[in-house]
Amino acid sequence: MDTNNPVRICVPLCERSLEALELSAAKVTSEGDGVEFRLDCLVQSELDHIDKLLQLAARTDSLTIFTFRPSDEGGKRELNYDARDEFWRRLQEAQGAYLTDLELDLVEGLITSNSTSSSPIDWARVIGSKHDFSGPPGDLEQIYERLARTPVRIIKIAVQAHDVTDCIPLFRLLKRAREEGREAIAIAMGPAGIATRILGPSRGAFLTYGALDKESSTAPGQITAKELKDVYRIGRITSKTEIFGLAGFPVTHSISPHIHNAAFARMGFDGVYIPLEVRDLASFIERMVHPHTREMDWNLRGLSVTAPHKTAVMDHLDWIEPAARDIGAVNTVVIEGGILRGYNTDAPAFIKTLVKKFGDLRDARCAIIGAGGAASAVALALNQNRSRVTVYARDVKKAARLAKRFDAEPASLDSASFEGFDVVINATPLGTSGKHEMETPARTGQLRGARLAYDLVYNPTETQFLREARDAGCEIFGGLSMLVAQATEQFRLWTGLEAPEKVMQWAAVEALKNL
Ligand code: NAP
Repeated sequence: MDTNNPVRICVPLCERSLEALELSAAKVTSEGDGVEFRLDCLVQSELDHIDKLLQLAARTDSLTIFTFRPSDEGGKRELNYDARDEFWRRLQEAQGAYLTDLELDLVEGLITSNSTSSSPIDWARVIGSKHDFSGPPGDLEQIYERLARTPVRIIKIAVQAHDVTDCIPLFRLLKRAREEGREAIAIAMGPAGIATRILGPSRGAFLTYGALDKESSTAPGQITAKELKDVYRIGRITSKTEIFGLAGFPVTHSISPHIHNAAFARMGFDGVYIPLEVRDLASFIERMVHPHTREMDWNLRGLSVTAPHKTAVMDHLDWIEPAARDIGAVNTVVIEGGILRGYNTDAPAFIKTLVKKFGDLRDARCAIIGAGGAASAVALALNQNRSRVTVYARDVKKAARLAKRFDAEPASLDSASFEGFDVVINATPLGTSGKHEMETPARTGQLRGARLAYDLVYNPTETQFLREARDAGCEIFGGLSMLVAQATEQFRLWTGLEAPEKVMQWAAVEALKNL
C-alpha cells in the first residue's frame, strides 16, 4: 500500500471580496501547500473582476484550484447549470497552471457539448467532483465509475460521515483508484470523517484539505492545515505507520491527539493518533478494529476508549485485565497478535498522581463524589492502597452499589460535610468547560476542614470546585496530571517504551490554551 505520493495540503478560502481572498491567500503559503479559491463565496460584483485573481494564480508556483459550487454541492449560492457552464468556459480561456474543480453533471455536460465548442476544455486541468451532504450514497462505486469514464484528470468524492465507519467506502475508493492508476481525492466530511483527512494522502489521495484557521473552515470536520502538519505530522504518515485512535462520541475537542502525537514525535516512533467518532460501537469494532473481521487495510494498533463506550467495549474484547474487570470500564485497547486486550489506565494514573501530591494513603480518609466509571477506578485504587473511603452520590443507591464493591461507605451528597477528610475527589463532570463550568458538587462551607481537594476535571485547569476548596483552606489539585499519567501508561502499553512524560504534559497544557 506504499505510495510515493507527495503529501499536499490544500487550504480552501471562502471570502466575499477579491481583496479578502488575496489577503487570505498570502497567509496560506506558510500553512499549506496549495489554495482552493471558492469563487461561489464572492459577491456578484467581484466576479466581474476575476481576471485579477487569475493573474494572482498565474504568479504562484503552488497548487491552485478554483471552484464555483452550487448550493446543492455545498456552495454559497444558487447556480443553475447554464451559469456554471458559462463561468467555466470563460475561465478556461485564461492561461495558468491552476486546476478547476467541476461537478460531475457539468463535466458530463461539457463532454457532450465540447465537440462543437470553440474553446476546448483542457481536461488535464480538471478535477471532476461529487459531493453528498446527506451521507455516503449507496451508489458510491457507480459515481466513481461515472467520473472515471470522463477525461478528468482527478476524481474527487466528498460525502458526509455520520459515524467513523462511513470512512470505509472512501478508503476503499482510494485503494481502487490507486490500483487503476487514477488520481483521486476521497473525503468523509464531518467530525466522523477526520480519519480520511489525516490518512488520505498516505493511502494515495492526491491531496487533503486543511482550514487556514479554526474560524475559516469551509466544510464540517475540516481541521486546520497547521494541525495536520504540526499535530498529526501528516507528511510522515505512510501505510506502515502504526495507527492509534480515540474512540468515543464526541471526540473532536479532546486534547489526547496533542498528547500522544507529541509523544510519538519525541520518541521518533512511527505512529499517529487520531480522533474516531464512534456511534455504533459493535459495527466499529467488527468493521474497523478486530483483525479477524475488519474491512480496513490499516495498521491499527490501539485505542483509547472514552464516553459513552468504556463499559460497552468490554463485550467486544478477547482479554481484559482483572483491575479493569473490577472497575467495570476499559479505557485502553491494545491490538496485537490478532486479538484485542483491554486495560484501565485511569486507576494507576489517579493513584500515582495522588501519592506524589499527598504521600502514603494508608488509612487516609477519602471522599469520592460521584458513582460513575471514574469513581469506580478511583475507589478501586484507593481500596488497593488501604485508604478509608466514603462514596457520595446524589443517588445514594448508586453510592451504595459502588461502595459495596470496594469496601467503602455510601453517603448522600445532599448537605454533605467533608470536614475531617484527608482527600475529597470530584469524580463528576460538574465544572467542565461548557454549560456546567460554574457548577460544583461541593461548596466552601462543605469543604472546610478537609485537607486536599482533587478534581478529576481538567478543562478548565482551575474549576469552581477547586476555587471553593481553596477558599475553604484546602490544598487543591486538578485533573490534568491524571490525564497525562493515564496517557503515559497507554503509551507504554502500546509501544513498550517509557513515555516522555514532560513532553506530554507540555503538549496537554498548550492544547488546553488553544481550545
Ligand atoms: P460517568 O460514568 O458519567 O459518571 C458521572 C458521575 O457524576 C455519576 O455518578 C453522576 O451521577 C454524577 N453526576 C453527574 N451530574 C451530577 C450532578 N449534577 N450532581 C451530582 N452528581 C452528578 O462519568 P465518568 O466517566 O465517571 O467521568 C466523570 C468525570 O471524570 C468526567 O468529567 C471525566 O472527564 C473525568 N475524568 C477525568 C479523568 C482524568 O484523567 N483526569 C479520567 C477519567 C474521568 P448520576 O449517575 O446520578 O447521573
